Amino acid sequence: MTDGPRDEEEALAERKMRFLFALRSKGVTEARVLTAMERVDRGRFVRGLFADRSYEDMPLPIACGQTISQPSVVGLMTQALRIGPRDTVLEVGTGSGYQAAILSQLCRRVYTVDRHRRLVREAAAVFSALGLSNITAFAADGSFGLPDQGPFDRIIVTAAAEDPPGPLLAQLKIGGIMVVPVGQSDAVQRLIKVSRLEKGFDYEELRSVRFVPLVEGMGDD
Ligand code: SAH
Repeated sequence: MTDGPRDEEEALAERKMRFLFALRSKGVTEARVLTAMERVDRGRFVRGLFADRSYEDMPLPIACGQTISQPSVVGLMTQALRIGPRDTVLEVGTGSGYQAAILSQLCRRVYTVDRHRRLVREAAAVFSALGLSNITAFAADGSFGLPDQGPFDRIIVTAAAEDPPGPLLAQLKIGGIMVVPVGQSDAVQRLIKVSRLEKGFDYEELRSVRFVPLVEGMGDD
């Protein structure tokens, strides 16, 4: 006799433990970030063929030819933002919605925007199924930010820009932080942390990363 559901539960617990271990070993060490990543089931944001790989530390394909980022990169970018519980955060590049869901655990309000309407619709459905009521998802070209919702305490861009987009810099509050991958789409890019000072900006290079490009205008679907 086998005990099916119990075996499955144990296997999931084991996978989760390995997932958290992998995150820690790659430098995601902040307790609040790890707790958020433990709570949000990445499997809810990965559909189809790759669903059973959702606890592996690798990027995976999602609809519209896009990718859900590698969990350790999600963790490191989130950690670099130093989010406070009262912060309002803008994410450019909703994709699957996973990164937004992690952010939603750490701050007061998340605005997330993607140029593919389908991705926004599907992510919004997952947010509502999970009861993540502090996330608002918009279909728009995020390189212009969301002027009506800003300015923001924190901004995260999850697609690679050639330079940090001007409108996003303008929508960052003084004392605010933005993380953005910068570089050509098919080359290795650098993850940049931009801090807005009383006067001007401070730029710090964090690590190399690889993201899909930030593309102008709306997608076809
Ligand atoms: N953060 C996502 C992964 C993002 S993949 C997750 O957690 O799953 C990058 C996303 O950026 C893609 O969905 C792509 O459609 C989006 N994107 C690219 N250019 C954009 C733009 N100008 N405005 C808004 N979204 C954009």
